[in-house]
Amino acid sequence: MTGRSVGVAAIGITVRGVVQGVGFRPFVHRLAKRCGLAGWVENTPGSVVLHVEGDAAALSRFRVLFRSEIPPAARVTRLMVRKARPTGASGFTIRASRRDGIALSTIPPDIASCPQCLRELADPADRRHGYPFTNCTNCGPRFTIVASLPYDRERTSMAAFPMCAACRTEYEDPLDRRFHAEPNACPACGPRLSMRGADGAPVETDDPVGTAARALLAGSIVAVRGLGGFQLAADATNDAAVRTLRERKRREEKPFAVMFPNIVSVRAAVRIKAADEAILRSPQAPVLLAPGRARSPLAPSVSMGLPTAGVFLPYTPLHRMLLDRAGRPLVMTSGNVTDEPIAIGNDEALSRLRGIADLFLLHDREVVQRSDDPVVRRVGRGVYPIRRARGFVPAPVTLPRSFPDVAGLGGELKNTFCFVKGDAAYLSQHIGDLEQAPVRDFYEEAYRFFHRFLDARLRAACNDLHPAYFTTAFAERAGADRLFALQHHKAHIYSVLAETGFAGKAVGVAFDGTGYGEDGAIWGGEFFTVDGMEVRRAGHLSYFPLPGGDAAIREPWRTALSLLRETLGPAKAEEAARELFPGVPPASIRLLLEALEKKINVVATSSAGRLFDAVSAFCGLCVRSSFEGQAPMRLEGAAASKAAGTYPFTLASAGGQLTVDWKELVEGVVADARRRVPAGVLSRRFHDTLASAILAASSRLAESAGARHVVLSGGVFQNVTLLSRVLSGLRKRKLTPLIHRLVPANDGGISLGQAYYAAMRVAGG
Ligand SMILES: [Zn+2]
Ligand SMILES: [Zn+2]
Ligand SMILES: [Zn+2]
Repeated sequence: MTGRSVGVAAIGITVRGVVQGVGFRPFVHRLAKRCGLAGWVENTPGSVVLHVEGDAAALSRFRVLFRSEIPPAARVTRLMVRKARPTGASGFTIRASRRDGIALSTIPPDIASCPQCLRELADPADRRHGYPFTNCTNCGPRFTIVASLPYDRERTSMAAFPMCAACRTEYEDPLDRRFHAEPNACPACGPRLSMRGADGAPVETDDPVGTAARALLAGSIVAVRGLGGFQLAADATNDAAVRTLRERKRREEKPFAVMFPNIVSVRAAVRIKAADEAILRSPQAPVLLAPGRARSPLAPSVSMGLPTAGVFLPYTPLHRMLLDRAGRPLVMTSGNVTDEPIAIGNDEALSRLRGIADLFLLHDREVVQRSDDPVVRRVGRGVYPIRRARGFVPAPVTLPRSFPDVAGLGGELKNTFCFVKGDAAYLSQHIGDLEQAPVRDFYEEAYRFFHRFLDARLRAACNDLHPAYFTTAFAERAGADRLFALQHHKAHIYSVLAETGFAGKAVGVAFDGTGYGEDGAIWGGEFFTVDGMEVRRAGHLSYFPLPGGDAAIREPWRTALSLLRETLGPAKAEEAARELFPGVPPASIRLLLEALEKKINVVATSSAGRLFDAVSAFCGLCVRSSFEGQAPMRLEGAAASKAAGTYPFTLASAGGQLTVDWKELVEGVVADARRRVPAGVLSRRFHDTLASAILAASSRLAESAGARHVVLSGGVFQNVTLLSRVLSGLRKRKLTPLIHRLVPANDGGISLGQAYYAAMRVAGG
């Protein structure tokens, strides 16, 4: 056919985002056929491009259905539709991928099992009945099995499993759900389970999943080879089993994530709404932190007194089968000794998890990219990330425009790094705390992977200002032409600017534990003014002496004593401390007061996180802490839903900086604590007071800067009790809050801010 027939029209559509490896092309193919349209679809680097033509009515039907039926695992960041010239095409074709300029964007994140695959798994008549590695173009492993690019089977750990004829036919049929599903497999040709005992000796069984489930129900700890690495499972309703796991894993009190057989069983343990259920069932299947129920079936040792629980649903067929067989919630925690990276190899797990697991449920599909489970909270109707990992990585954050290649190296704790390529910012999976050598090795390995596969030619890299961070030393080896150092809290603010694309005037609030300040003090309760791409410090919580680095973090009473001394003076502080911290030896109190007096091992700080620590200690909720963030988590957990009254605070201006003076606040907290006001009331008053202080300072700065937006970042804003107060207060004041939706507010998000800053510096010359 040549020329144009009357009534034939055409459109071209370009779709960007996570659109490859998620069944997008077969979806377009099927839809075009349904609508009786001709044309073609193809993958190009970072996008899917398609052309359809036919009569106008069919085209508009196609457009409507296209938007409403996009594959569930796809995440569209941009969709451009334009008029095109009909080409006289007949039929619809899926064109071969264009391999030029392949980027990491062509690797999708891992996707939770889809309903169709789960149906096949449960169907005795299906050839994949009970097969724990079932997957299709809509679901299955992706990033975690990729060894090199381009993303096709030969370059994944599925290369070891040649497809059988039946699988090959599915793989090659454009109309099949498994068309180009790279990890496609079946019981005849795919990966298999095996089992080992505590000593590593093979365990003979025809039913490894059933054997594992029975062991779990009998109180054993089972190591399970999952998607991004090993997990340690235990019966979450069995207190003794969970305590054993804590002892062996050397994890005293940090809560465990729990996987549930189904949504009904989740509802029995935590209070969730429809929006939470949508998050749990999403393709990322994250761990969701949700408020626990008073009469939950979970053992007390799962959450160790915290009123929230981390819950998630099975996201692989193997998890689905294990949970079905166990029929009850299972602790499902990273397969490691606390502070080490998650184990991925069979031999590695057999040696590193020896003495922890009673049984090993193994398989022979290698995990290539180490990745923990992601963790989120819900704020409003949307996801608020806490830990960005499996399911989210390597989906990029889309920046407002294109930039030269740069990298952000991240912070020291909860580290991630970030590469900018074009308008895409690729954050690594959660790496962890870079204090131990094995985690540093993991960092270097993951960094080299991203660097190589993005084919990055780094014009710049950006590290934190802290001279002693691992990433600061690593910067020299980052392979970049130029190096920038960016103050920690500014990086938090830039991170929100990067993901929102906001470039006007705003006030920035960065509240967290600690970050190295431009004046050498430890910052952590910071206010900024944002003007376009310029971020300047405009205010902070007033400084106080922070005693002895790490000891103060492990023992919140130490920070509390310093605040007592600042507020009441040394003599009264000693008296109050003895009364409020009866478990602390008086000699330790005296010793620390002397150190504060002589300014030995003391550094000035404006940290909001340490203020939370101190108030948690004053309330008797957490005098000593067993993991980072425990004191503030307990304080938030204790907060009553309502309590009359707040504490006073003072805003003052000095040297062009607004300061929030907390002295009267601390006085009020201490007076309440000594009067034995219940911790719930005290905590609520503290949260409300801090929210008021943030609102007062933000409003004042916004007014003088002519800003209508307020950026909120930093680990303290993981506290949704505080965050929701601040959000509603800002809206009442007709100020628009800008918060994280794509990366964590904690230090897991600063690499994005660093990269964005470096990108703008390079682009700006
Ligand atoms: Zn599927
Ligand atoms: Zn097969
Ligand atoms: Zn921080």
